[in-house]
Amino acid sequence: MVPTSKLPPLGAHVSVAGGVHTAPGRGKAIGADVIQIFSKQQTRWMGKALEEGDVRAFRDETARTGIRTAAIHCAYLINLGSATESVRTRSLYALEDEASRAAMLAVPHLVLHPGSSGEDPEEAGIARIAQALKTFGRFPKGVTLLLENTAGQGNSLGRTMEQIRRLLDAAGNPPDVAVCLDSAHLFEAGYDISGEAGWDGLLAEMDRYAILPLVRMWHLNDSRTDFGSRVDRHFHIGEGKIGPGAFRRILTHRVFRTLPMVLETPKDGDDETERDIRNLAALRKLAAPGWKEE
Ligand SMILES: [Zn+2]
Ligand SMILES: [Zn+2]
Repeated sequence: MVPTSKLPPLGAHVSVAGGVHTAPGRGKAIGADVIQIFSKQQTRWMGKALEEGDVRAFRDETARTGIRTAAIHCAYLINLGSATESVRTRSLYALEDEASRAAMLAVPHLVLHPGSSGEDPEEAGIARIAQALKTFGRFPKGVTLLLENTAGQGNSLGRTMEQIRRLLDAAGNPPDVAVCLDSAHLFEAGYDISGEAGWDGLLAEMDRYAILPLVRMWHLNDSRTDFGSRVDRHFHIGEGKIGPGAFRRILTHRVFRTLPMVLETPKDGDDETERDIRNLAALRKLAAPGWKEE
């Protein structure tokens, strides 16, 4: 597909307060082409079943607002790498619930943090996550699971390109499992994307582990914490420790520039739309020809 504009589809994670059908309107209010949502209260294992009316309203609102594509971010409780079998079982059921919601809402991307090995060595966690994905089997038609890279906080897996590769290989490289990259997590995990050298290093690693063709989406967040901190704190674009140059490199990269990209930055301020609007404007400016790093 030839991109119709020089900009990737840009948007933000938006609230579903009042029902999933309210999300596209929130996206439109900030000028988004793409939205990401939680499909239910993200602190619960299972949500109230979606009714036909909810589904129809969501699809109608998506069409009315011109939102081009969407993603569901899985609940944070899901941990396919847990050493506790009951947690893994509940995680699998919860993942199935998320996947069926995505299929009902015609949302093509389902974003998941791979999981944490807890006190166990990472190898054990990788084996458990891979086994869980094999047990899960295929995702519903039209839904792709995107494993998100992590900051590496609390032994969370998916911190490096190498870990993501080992996970995918152990799971047998399912055709409906791909990757979502989060800029803040990359930086916090030890990829210094704030400068050219670190960016080139990341691309070289992505090449070595054949991750580049699997990237389907970006989370664009600056980081409040230092490079390599392994502490996950998102911040406004260009105002954190990463700085603006990294975002320009992502937005204009030959492969990434057509992928959906969403903000997961704080929504502080009196108006929940205000900061998203400013961050999206910052991204558009960074993608414009002629922008120079100061
Ligand atoms: Zn995430
Ligand atoms: Zn993210």
